[in-house]
Amino acid sequence: MPDLPKHDTRACRITKVTTYVVGMRWRNCVFAQVETDEGIAGIGEGSLEYQPKAVEAAIQQLAARYAIGRSAFAIEKLWHDVLRNEFMHSPIINSAAAALEMAMWDIAGKALGRPAHDLLGGRVHDVLPAYANAWYGVGKSPAEIGQAAAAAAAKGYRGLKFDPFEDAGRDPDRASIRRAVEIVAAVRDATGPDVDLMIDAHGRFSPASAIAIARDLEPADLFWFEEPCDPENAASLAMVGRGMKTRLATGERCTSRAGMAGLLETHEIGVLQPDIIHVGGILEAKKIAAMADAYYTPVSFHNPFGPVATAAAVQLDACTTNVFMQESFCEYDVPFRFDLLEHAPKPENGRYVVSDRPGLGVGEFRPEVALAHPWEPDAFLPLFTDRWSARF
Ligand SMILES: [Mg+2]
Repeated sequence: MPDLPKHDTRACRITKVTTYVVGMRWRNCVFAQVETDEGIAGIGEGSLEYQPKAVEAAIQQLAARYAIGRSAFAIEKLWHDVLRNEFMHSPIINSAAAALEMAMWDIAGKALGRPAHDLLGGRVHDVLPAYANAWYGVGKSPAEIGQAAAAAAAKGYRGLKFDPFEDAGRDPDRASIRRAVEIVAAVRDATGPDVDLMIDAHGRFSPASAIAIARDLEPADLFWFEEPCDPENAASLAMVGRGMKTRLATGERCTSRAGMAGLLETHEIGVLQPDIIHVGGILEAKKIAAMADAYYTPVSFHNPFGPVATAAAVQLDACTTNVFMQESFCEYDVPFRFDLLEHAPKPENGRYVVSDRPGLGVGEFRPEVALAHPWEPDAFLPLFTDRWSARF
């Protein structure tokens, strides 16, 4: 057992951590409510693709090891202790730590009466343009997906992201590539020339197939091509970057600052997409954004989960210079998403307006709403099965 200060002398000592796993149609989200001896509570989120029970157990373990008895202001020390002492680098540990870390920012802000972004350098953006995701699952034909795109663009989003490749594998046949090209062309026709279109391949392709497909898609003038191949081998990903004209985007599955450095060192990353939860929290994500800035590379935080993660993203966006667009699933998610918090963030005319409320700006968490939507064993999105996007 590491020698940790169980009775920090500063304010707002953590007394209790309560976890909630909430079934939200195609994924379960994980929340941690953190209470303190000053009566101030904060909320954090540790959602991770398809392992909610593991993250929930990890939150409880980390809370006992590192959080209970510690000041909610000791954020850097908590993350440092977790990073060093847990020994293995793991997205489950990172996501659990992030749930505690976000809640600590929420508590610290509430204790001081200031929004979290004021504690992280202060605001540089008042509003954040958003791009919509999950808007396209309703359609089946290219024309129907085009209609869905026009409807989403009409809400005011700067951009739309989608995966037009359905269940395609490493090296798809000509017919399935042609169908994807038809879908992308229909979306471009429906939205006109001024909407940014981003496609996400979710790591489907071999590097050579990805390059060929990127060339087929050039007429659509895409803003970025995300995870054209699996992102763990940075050199293979960079091969795709060199072989196509479109910006290469990646980062959501990279869970360490060292891994992010390896991606940036390829000099092929057009947009870095850290997931605030998966990297270990708001402060670690801010450091990674600064590292990307050393390569003149913008960041756009990955944000497919619940309303607390979105609130954390908006707080971090507000105080990060090299952010330019925020991913948003909000308007295409379960309606009770907006009931989980007293003030759940929601885009207005396709933009997030930065809140001045204290902490994460969400007010109080509503446990009764979380408990009304418990863990769903079937909340899972296998991306290599037919019509997976229909679950959106
Ligand atoms: Mg993605």
